[in-house]
Amino acid sequence: MTLIVIAVLCGLALLTLSSSRLGLGAETSSCPAGLGGLEIAFGDLFEEDQPTNPDVAALLEDPDFGASAEAVEDLRDGVVDPRLVDALLVITRKHQICVDAFKEGHYFIEGVEDGPVIPEGYGEAGGLPNTHYHGRAADIWYVDGEPVEGNGDDEGVLSVGQALAGIPPDARPDQIIGPPEWTERLDRSWREGWVLSEDQLRLHEDHIHIGYKEEGTNKNRR
Ligand SMILES: [Zn+2]
Repeated sequence: MTLIVIAVLCGLALLTLSSSRLGLGAETSSCPAGLGGLEIAFGDLFEEDQPTNPDVAALLEDPDFGASAEAVEDLRDGVVDPRLVDALLVITRKHQICVDAFKEGHYFIEGVEDGPVIPEGYGEAGGLPNTHYHGRAADIWYVDGEPVEGNGDDEGVLSVGQALAGIPPDARPDQIIGPPEWTERLDRSWREGWVLSEDQLRLHEDHIHIGYKEEGTNKNRR
């Protein structure tokens, strides 16, 4: 009997050890366990699947960057705008972030498949170009292990906004949307890339959206 108990305990210990080695331990991760299915241990990616863009490789290897399996696939497939990759690398200099979606797995309205334009019914933005669909937007749901939801005026979450504001205007995302209290505390203008319309802030109570409105150009004003 004692032997059986010892054997079971050893088995559990081994299981725990192998789980943490696979990057499944929630406490050291930028994303909560289970987001988007299985979390990826970036170091385990096969050599031949490594992205050719060095910035994408740097982001995927960055221990402060976490992402859903679909978001990792988008990065490896090269569908994410390089400007967005650079902006995320600026944020991870100071913070752990978890990106839930670029293109794949993103939806505005549950059950409505994403297309080139925002679906009608998504606030007043219905009919406008969908930057996610074009690989020009990222949704950040967790900062330093804490959900954005309910923490919009948390110093860490605010600091992500300050890091964005510190990016030169011509490189900074020109479509930055976050929770109402986050937006109010940061007190940035539309000229600097912030979206301020109340219906959009209500729709972003649980995440920070950073995007580029157009390919290769930037709408920010100095
Ligand atoms: Zn978004």
